[in-house]
Amino acid sequence: MMHNGKLYWPDTYQKMNYNDEIAKNYDVVIIGGGMSGALTAFRVAEAGYHTLLVDKDTIGSASSAANTGLMQYMSDKLLHECVKDFGPLEAYYFYKASKEGLEDIERLSTLLDSRVNFITRDSLFIASTKRHKEKIKDEFDALKYFDFPVEYISDEQLKGEYGIDKYNALITHEDAEINPFVFVNEIVKYAHNKYQLDVLENTELIQYKKENNQVICEFKNKTIATNKLVMTTGYAKNKITKKYINREQFVASYAVVTQPIQESQFWKDKVMIWESARPYLYIRHVPGNRVLIGGLDETTDKIPNEKHIQKQGNRLIKAFNKLYPEIKLEIEYAYGARFGETKDGKPFIGKIDEDLEVYGLYGYGGNGTVYSSFGSKLLLDMIEGKYNPLSEIFKLKR
Ligand SMILES: Cc1cc2nc3c(=O)[nH]c(=O)nc-3n(C[C@H](O)[C@H](O)[C@H](O)COP(=O)(O)OP(=O)(O)OC[C@H]3O[C@@H](n4cnc5c(N)ncnc54)[C@H](O)[C@@H]3O)c2cc1C
Repeated sequence: MMHNGKLYWPDTYQKMNYNDEIAKNYDVVIIGGGMSGALTAFRVAEAGYHTLLVDKDTIGSASSAANTGLMQYMSDKLLHECVKDFGPLEAYYFYKASKEGLEDIERLSTLLDSRVNFITRDSLFIASTKRHKEKIKDEFDALKYFDFPVEYISDEQLKGEYGIDKYNALITHEDAEINPFVFVNEIVKYAHNKYQLDVLENTELIQYKKENNQVICEFKNKTIATNKLVMTTGYAKNKITKKYINREQFVASYAVVTQPIQESQFWKDKVMIWESARPYLYIRHVPGNRVLIGGLDETTDKIPNEKHIQKQGNRLIKAFNKLYPEIKLEIEYAYGARFGETKDGKPFIGKIDEDLEVYGLYGYGGNGTVYSSFGSKLLLDMIEGKYNPLSEIFKLKR
């Protein structure tokens, strides 16, 4: 499993189980039913392809159940840092794709059960140290230059309006919070009921090979042929894709969800809060007036144990109380999970295997949800043989 401890989102929703009759041949087979696989399955099935979505466990049960559901167009790698590393055009297209990915999730949420809880929110991005004040200013200038919806917040405003006694900050508008577990399950259910999408749970892909211009997927008890195979196996250490996806860095990340607090105790506009330090602390409201706090990432590929999760949970509360000492919180849910990032800060999206119709979508990074969203669209273009310039930016071999 990708996580340990007590998760919050699965307690909010009863997922559907699938009992589909599985064909011998599909247009597209997708391996991995998390955020990336669910969105890809939706896109591909909506475009009219006979599609199969397979998961070795159940839909949404891996890191997408641990996802804390903050969606922002800003990435962990700031826009001005992307400009320095990738040049202005590529940096701009990366951020634009993220913004559009978020807008697509908003559109899709309107088709789904209201428990998806897509809520448009501002994000408050604060300087963690005095030294980072310059970083905040540079980021504001970069975002403003490219016309992203951003506002500069001075030290005085941060204290006066948001009650945080730190340095300067940014507000980014048009971000959002979501219940990712419900979203993943609902989008799969929607596509399953409306299009030609079959779903197969508790079935692990062991290997694939080429045969007669098709890809043959081998599972424990069955073999399925497909014209295109898409791998969306998340942070699973997967021997199949290990040789291609070799530049990830795994960390353990922690989160707590508290017992409900009074509506009047919330900070201004219930903004999502994060900071310039790496790794960063982040905070959001959860429907039902709970508070979610996450962070304290540690470099390890091990899934943390219960005792350590409790310790990190208490540290998260302490970190929150440094910002808001007057808000008393009680932990109700605490968990730790594996999380992955790429060295250059961009997700991997594209062809995995030059000689085979095998593609991958690995939305590594704190902004994984929006990467899964624009990545699923990019993959559909690739599957349909349409040239999309974004494919150069996110290709696997770089
Ligand atoms: C604690 C935490 C907080 C996070 N918070 C945020 C956040 O606030 N905002 C954000 O945007 N992102 C966040 N993320 C990142 C986000 O969770 C990921 O980007 C997202 O879940 C990745 O989705 P995925 O579909 O790639 O992977 P997963 O959800 O892990 O799905 C992969 C699936 O593949 C299946 N699988 C693997 N191997 C096989 C195989 N061989 N055969 C069949 N099935 C297989 C697994 O069972 C799994 O269900 C967070 C992550 C963590 C851990």
